[in-house]
Amino acid sequence: MSDARTHDKVTGLILAGGQGRRMGGVDKGLQDFRGRRLVDHVYERLAPQVGGIIINANQNHDAYKTFGVRVVSDAIGNFAGPLAGLHAGLSISRRPYLASVPCDSPFLPSDLIERLLARLMESKAVLAVAKTGDQPHPVFCLVRRSVLEHLTHFLKGGGRKIDAWYGSLEVVEVNFDDHAEAFSNINTREELANFETESAQEGTPVESGTPIAPAAAAMIDSIVRPPGGSLAQVISCIDDYDPNALKVDKAREVIRSLLVPVATNEKLAVRAALGRVLGEDIISTLDVPAHDNSAMDGYALRHADLKSAGETELHLAGSAFAGRKFDGKLKKGECVRVMTGAVMPPGTDTVVIQEIVQAEGDKIRIPAGQKQGQNRRLAGEDLAAGKPVLQAGRLVGPAELGLIASLGSAEVMVRRRPRVAFFSTGDELASVGSVLKEGEVYDSNRYTLYGMLSRLGCDIIDMGVVRDDPASLERALKAAADDADAIITSGGVSVGEADFIRELLGKLGEVVFWKIAMKPGRPMAFGKIGRAHFFGLPGNPVAVMVTFYQFVRDALLALSGRTGELSLPLLEVPCTAGIKKSPGRTEFQRGILARDDQGEWSVAPTGAQGSGVLRSMAEANCFIVLAHERGSIRPGDRVQVQLFDGLV
Ligand code: AMP
Ligand code: MG
Repeated sequence: MSDARTHDKVTGLILAGGQGRRMGGVDKGLQDFRGRRLVDHVYERLAPQVGGIIINANQNHDAYKTFGVRVVSDAIGNFAGPLAGLHAGLSISRRPYLASVPCDSPFLPSDLIERLLARLMESKAVLAVAKTGDQPHPVFCLVRRSVLEHLTHFLKGGGRKIDAWYGSLEVVEVNFDDHAEAFSNINTREELANFETESAQEGTPVESGTPIAPAAAAMIDSIVRPPGGSLAQVISCIDDYDPNALKVDKAREVIRSLLVPVATNEKLAVRAALGRVLGEDIISTLDVPAHDNSAMDGYALRHADLKSAGETELHLAGSAFAGRKFDGKLKKGECVRVMTGAVMPPGTDTVVIQEIVQAEGDKIRIPAGQKQGQNRRLAGEDLAAGKPVLQAGRLVGPAELGLIASLGSAEVMVRRRPRVAFFSTGDELASVGSVLKEGEVYDSNRYTLYGMLSRLGCDIIDMGVVRDDPASLERALKAAADDADAIITSGGVSVGEADFIRELLGKLGEVVFWKIAMKPGRPMAFGKIGRAHFFGLPGNPVAVMVTFYQFVRDALLALSGRTGELSLPLLEVPCTAGIKKSPGRTEFQRGILARDDQGEWSVAPTGAQGSGVLRSMAEANCFIVLAHERGSIRPGDRVQVQLFDGLV
């Protein structure tokens, strides 16, 4: 998956401005394909690769506006072809690069932008284009924004043919033979129908060694395999991968590589966006502050009027307050009384604070030593018109709400919340409110999960308790996969229990069972079922919370579209007690961080640390994180802690 820095540089342009002639004059992007519109497939594949999306369409704008992104028509001609679309997109795009893809290419490669950009950046070319064999795919291209002028000129001169335009540019071709069929676009009704039926193969595991027809290979490549690559592929790239003793960091790495963030946006009133993730960059439409203004109560003057040495006497010409400006014209040797926030009177450049001047009637004596420009806030100092204020992927907190409001916006575009379905498994589980029978325990994990998921801002689907039987589990997993972006289960992944679940998950998706080198939380399953990310957490209540906070939390934040650092900070403090530990696994002890009599912070482990003792989580206010290689801790040794406070 492309990293946040790469992706922020590129705007994606979906070209949906054609007439669909070979399909009988329909709007191709809106044609149904596998239960959704063609453009939905393209959007979903492109969005995680770029910082923002623009759609070029020449009809049915409302239908394309469902993504909440900008939709633009060609500025020239009538249906003048892809170059006109590229021109329209480039004219309004603000990122340094723009990548175009057609709306009828539902299999476009998930590493398209990353690879085009890497090659373009290392060359002097202005345009990178995908190629398979000898065949370039001109509408799958990445251009530098600076090419707009050249393109405008070309179009003004009557040029319309994309090949001719390419011929006049420095172009670099990027080989995608490993995705040979991913560039197939769908031009006719027949092609649409063919791809539709072939897609029935989705989800059917393909045994290794079975020859695959080229078209089917494209399907497997681009649909069955999630954008980050298949789980098997990801795993094969990781050094010392051992599912029976997997290090915590490796597990995080695998999870991260397989995540496909939610890409759809919705528009909300500003206050309702609190806690949500920005769906697009916010560009300032105005200068904040709008005018140069005074930062202090005092006197605004022209610095050039001050003597170079000694005191200067100025004449008071009037006054200005916040919201009421000075209307007169300032003559040489005059000053204006100003209050904080008042617009700087025309011609003045400096404010002298009232405390240091001597005022007698309208004679104002200014002491020596004033610096030009002091105590003046410049227009646009906080936010400058046309400049990005906040990037897509940012969490909207109180400061962001204020910033958005300071631009005068009443609404803001945010990502849809990730939908998370969860259920507990186990024949021994009783629901709260019922009387416990022998051998039963109350299902507490679903409540812990409810709490953690709600705090994280997910849309939650609580599916209750599912019995340990294959048919019920299959039904529940299928229903969850249809509806949710992520599925979380607790229980049933330990060695004794896992066999039939393993078989079932293998049938429904691509899932691995891990024994993670950690305590608590050793057994865990992870993978994908259909389009949903699957986390099979252990059953023990503490292990549920530890695995959630160590793996699922970051994953769901990434899924929600957040960019930047997502993992919890680690702080180092002395530990008041000794802790026995052998090297070879990461331990997450529950600790209480407190200040001692001298005011120094230190941490003490809570009492019982058993993975069933949920009380330890309630008593604790932090995890004590003991790294993989570490041995026993002596009292006074420094350890790392992760605070629960602020943990969403
Ligand atoms: P399992 O991973 O299914 O073998 O469960 C491990 C332990 O956690 C067993 O003692 C279970 O009874 C307990 N457990 C499993 N699920 C839950 C739950 N939802 N609530 C409370 N305890 C559970
Ligand atoms: Mg169980």
